[in-house]
Amino acid sequence: MSDIEELRNKIDAITLEMIKLLKNRIEISKEIGAIKKDLGLSITDETREESLRKKVLSLCKDIGIEEKTGARFLNFLLDESVKIQSTKKQTHLSIFLKAKSLEEQGKKIIHMEVGEPDFLPPTIVKKALEEVYDKGFIKYGHAKGMPKFREALAKKTSEQYEIYVKQDDIIVCPGARFAVFLAITTLVNPGDEIIVLEPAWPAYKDCAATAGIKVRTIKTTLENNWEPSIKQIEGAINSNTKMIVLNYPNNPTGKVLPQKLLDDIMDIAMKNDLYVLSDEIYAQYSYGGWKSVLSYNYKKSIVTQSFSKSHSMTGFRIGYAVSDSQIIDKMAKLQAICLTNVSEPIQYVALQALQADTTDNSNNVKSKLDVVIKKAKEIGLDFIEPDGAMYIFAKIKNESFDGTEFSNKLLDYGLAVAPGEGFGDYKDFIRISACQDEKKLTDGMDILDNVLNGTK
Ligand code: PMP
Repeated sequence: MSDIEELRNKIDAITLEMIKLLKNRIEISKEIGAIKKDLGLSITDETREESLRKKVLSLCKDIGIEEKTGARFLNFLLDESVKIQSTKKQTHLSIFLKAKSLEEQGKKIIHMEVGEPDFLPPTIVKKALEEVYDKGFIKYGHAKGMPKFREALAKKTSEQYEIYVKQDDIIVCPGARFAVFLAITTLVNPGDEIIVLEPAWPAYKDCAATAGIKVRTIKTTLENNWEPSIKQIEGAINSNTKMIVLNYPNNPTGKVLPQKLLDDIMDIAMKNDLYVLSDEIYAQYSYGGWKSVLSYNYKKSIVTQSFSKSHSMTGFRIGYAVSDSQIIDKMAKLQAICLTNVSEPIQYVALQALQADTTDNSNNVKSKLDVVIKKAKEIGLDFIEPDGAMYIFAKIKNESFDGTEFSNKLLDYGLAVAPGEGFGDYKDFIRISACQDEKKLTDGMDILDNVLNGTK
């Protein structure tokens, strides 16, 4: 046998042995999952993971493997365990779909589970839809978006935040969701890590999971004002950490971080050379004290924006990201592979929508949110008044409360709310959206009160 044949046979045997060990690991992981479920423990235990990571890194040193390689392999194994132990969680979307099917059967439901403004897009959008055919914006186009549109977005962003943003720093995407997906999957490699502060919109974790990227969650609490500590963040960073995801005003809590804390987080990110993915789609609905991550002029920041909430254009699927042009180029490469370009007619319509004054939208959402806040206080829900966005994230002071069971029960009484567990380890929470007219919001909160306090 030639040398290479012999070596290849050895490689095969080792690989097969590794697969057998993986099988053992999977079986044990299943058993641990069942025990965790019985004890009501959460799936990820960062302290355990950290202790194993230390052992792995020390072994890498001892036997002479690059620590990065060892850590990546460990992340693959940890991710597998999370997948094995995860049970399907109910999110705002699963409740929404259930509510929709009940409606098809004739049931009336008040929708306080999704974040979709109930008012129409600006009227200029209607005119733009009518004229786009004749204007001829109907062909294939640039992967990054129509130059004219990107120019307008760059101008708007520059003026809004008093910074210099140029056309090449912008990519137009079919919604901020896709911009988030592009940023996470093109900038971070499988086995690398990102930090997500919970409670969080579920897509950040979902995008990472599809790409085999490990998520480090930092749990923030109502008791701590939904603020992460700098110690928590520093403790979550290691040599494989590549990105931190921020979302302020936050979905679901409505929180905006105090300026000093955001400064400190940016400082840590810069010192550790992390990407900062800042999802700012609720910027339109910030009620004071909010600052864009763009104002830090940090090269490795990526800010996602959307017309969904600010212009009530959810169904148009149009958003964008602002970053350094080299980062935008990377994102554009994947976007070109996935979808060639964003629909030109929709880009034209959004370009026109930029002319609209959306101040009324902010006032509208704020007054709706005020209705929900007032009722929630009367009912005695435990929550922090939101600094922005269009939700309250409320804890129910009842030991055996299960937000998912409760959300399903509420559907029987004609109200849809989002279970807290869709946003992280928050079983005793529900998210209530203020995206209906005031009468419906009041009726919805009355249903919630009756069901919660046992009169129904
Ligand atoms: N980011 C956050 C925080 C959201 O809540 C949502 C939608 N609910 C999105 C992004 C998605 O926005 P888009 O419709 O632009 O994809």
